[in-house]
Amino acid sequence: MSCSSSSGSEEEEEEEFESYRKGGYHAVRVGDSFNGGRYIAQRKLGWGQFSTVWLAYDIQTSGFVALKIQKSAPQFAQAALHEIEVLSAIADGDSSNSKCVVQLIDHFKHMGPNGQHLCMVLECLGDSLLRLIRYNHHKGLDFNKVREICKCILIGLDYLHRELNILHTDLKPENILLVSPIDPSKDPIRSKLTPILERPEGINLNGGITMNFIEKKLKRRAKRVVARISERRASMGQNPKPQRSLDGINMRCKVVDFGSACWADQQFMEEIQTRQYRAPEVILRSGYSASADMWSFACTAFELATGDMLFAPKGGQGFSEDEDHLALMQELLGKMPKKIANGGVRSKDYFDRYGDLKRIRRLKYWSLDRLLVEKYNFPETEAREFASFLCPILDFAPEKRPTAQQCLQHSWLKPVFTMHDNSNKDKLSVGMKNLQI
Ligand code: ADP
Ligand code: MG
Repeated sequence: MSCSSSSGSEEEEEEEFESYRKGGYHAVRVGDSFNGGRYIAQRKLGWGQFSTVWLAYDIQTSGFVALKIQKSAPQFAQAALHEIEVLSAIADGDSSNSKCVVQLIDHFKHMGPNGQHLCMVLECLGDSLLRLIRYNHHKGLDFNKVREICKCILIGLDYLHRELNILHTDLKPENILLVSPIDPSKDPIRSKLTPILERPEGINLNGGITMNFIEKKLKRRAKRVVARISERRASMGQNPKPQRSLDGINMRCKVVDFGSACWADQQFMEEIQTRQYRAPEVILRSGYSASADMWSFACTAFELATGDMLFAPKGGQGFSEDEDHLALMQELLGKMPKKIANGGVRSKDYFDRYGDLKRIRRLKYWSLDRLLVEKYNFPETEAREFASFLCPILDFAPEKRPTAQQCLQHSWLKPVFTMHDNSNKDKLSVGMKNLQI
């Protein structure tokens, strides 16, 4: 679900314990059963502002699924009903499950001590791209991997936009999941996980959960201390972060989290998208459409290739986060045309009548391909090609941005093989077959 700022801080790895209260999350223990005994909780997969998500075993199909358990307060239940409606439309139009969007399998209500929770049963996927970026120590993935991921996201967006008329409105690395976990031992299928069918003995009700939290908190604190020490060592030239191999990680992925999605002709929110992935027309309130998802896609693609967010605005003395964001966009993409700058309900808050920012006067222009070469050390030609893929999607004029379908035709997405790249060639062509391109 969308939150106005990214929940991407490295330390914030657990949901708030305080949110396990009336109207909030449902506390789950390993072995708990749901929907009349059909699904049995195995372990927690993740969480969001609205829900916790558990790996569950489906007795009926003898398979593993992801069980998304929504907070129970009315506004969360309302959002879940809407999400179920969108997910049902998505599943109805994708019977072959090939459109790179998560599949809804089932949904039901679950009554617990904190209230009634709507639950969604989803196909089980792996880690998010945010986790992949962190796993790779923000070093940037090689281009063939970025290409493969981009193709999946674009197939998903093309399906949503063109076939269903649905806008995701919160596309970001956190909401795109690899089809299988980074760590093969976490993959219930590959690791041949034996399902837990009943609650392990010796866990008392709330005590178990509280202990679990305290234990995790202590572990997290210890981890932070170790991380700080090794960071200091790294900055002193000792213990640099090891280069992690990404070989063997399947880069196929799917778009998830339709908690804030909407039908293009039934928009109900003025402010959409997580800050860093927010399109200029959303900041300016000039109206948005599918092209706003495309903007977030371009921000995500840049982040995959470099390990850094494309725009990370901050408020400062005398200017707001929005103004900084608009300044950063112009520094990278050139001056915003006056008509666009002045075309939104909020324009007057930021721009003068000449289309110049009121409070940030001096901009330092730095084009995307120069940035890729000078800051990220990309070879000139690769930087130019990647920039030629991204820049049109980052057009200030939403109607000029290419659609997902058009992006899929771009030459940058065609795999390039060098003499030394044969090992990848096989993997990629297998990947492509699976994608049915
Ligand atoms: P919210 O609406 O609360 O943000 P999300 O749908 O984004 O919920 O799910 C929260 C987290 O749960 C995700 O970031 C991911 O880590 C995990 N998750 C969600 N869906 C799945 C799935 N189908 N398979 C595996 N993990 C999932
Ligand atoms: Mg989410």
